[in-house]
Amino acid sequence: MGEFERFSADLGRRPDLVQGAGGNTSIKTGATMRIKASGAWLADALTKPSFVEVDLQKIQGLLAGDFDDAGLTAALASEAALRPSIETPLHALSPFAAIAHVHSASAIAFAVRQDARERLGERLAGLDWAFIPYARPGAPLAKAVRAAFAHGRPKVLILGNHGLVVAENTVSALRALLEEVETRLASDQAPPVAARAQKPPPPAGYRWALNSPVEFLAFDEERLEIAANGSLYPDHVVFLGPAITALRDASSLSTMIPPPKAAIVKGAGVLAREDLTRGALAMLDCLGLVLARLDPAARINYLSAADEAELLGWDAETYRQALDRRAARD
Ligand SMILES: [Zn+2]
Repeated sequence: MGEFERFSADLGRRPDLVQGAGGNTSIKTGATMRIKASGAWLADALTKPSFVEVDLQKIQGLLAGDFDDAGLTAALASEAALRPSIETPLHALSPFAAIAHVHSASAIAFAVRQDARERLGERLAGLDWAFIPYARPGAPLAKAVRAAFAHGRPKVLILGNHGLVVAENTVSALRALLEEVETRLASDQAPPVAARAQKPPPPAGYRWALNSPVEFLAFDEERLEIAANGSLYPDHVVFLGPAITALRDASSLSTMIPPPKAAIVKGAGVLAREDLTRGALAMLDCLGLVLARLDPAARINYLSAADEAELLGWDAETYRQALDRRAARD
């Protein structure tokens, strides 16, 4: 295994950068690009088959024209067991050889703010960077990234309500640039504290998520309100549903239809469904890592109801009705 795989595995072991199968790395050599496979975990980069080779010219040809999600999916389809990540366009469009896309909690804590561009401008001054407003992963995000590269060769992309892309010519330079960006974006918020609270027995089907970085939200009214008011980034919606349920009393969970994947009980802790996958639990942790870094006074740019519906694969009208039902119940 080479430097690229070691770097990828190192990223995968950092929950503040990579959660579950999220995040991806790539390296270009001549006409081919090796990129993380869809569904593979960067943490397994040294121990399991985690990367696939794609024909760079073929994918770049597609991305140069007019394309949609179906065209993109078809281009990434493979006879082999592993398919390239759906985020392959972020990598193929960059003129640099080594690329890492991570769901950095520090970057997301800026990327969800209404004043993201200004605040990031202060932190990233002197770097060649660009801000890309939220676009749904897939064809819309690929087109937004293509537009950014039409105006320059940014090495750092901040994806609004999503994460960070860092690009360099070599893996060692990439590792250094990622650390530089993470240092610059480091939070100036005081570390959160989760109080030790007496927890009632969990409702049927749930268990208390103990020692999760999200637990402090049960004791932080301001940030809990931010998390409960809307959805901040796409993987949260995909794995845990929109926003997060905040409750005063754990027993009210049993009346909720559908039952939420997780809920934060004020003054007590965090309840997670017993059937949550490892990936979903990593996303629950991620919410805590992001909120801990977020200035509670910041004005938030939430994903819209239409964004949430698209991520859930729901048709917009069905989703609007579901939101109405939710609002009526609250
Ligand atoms: Zn992503």
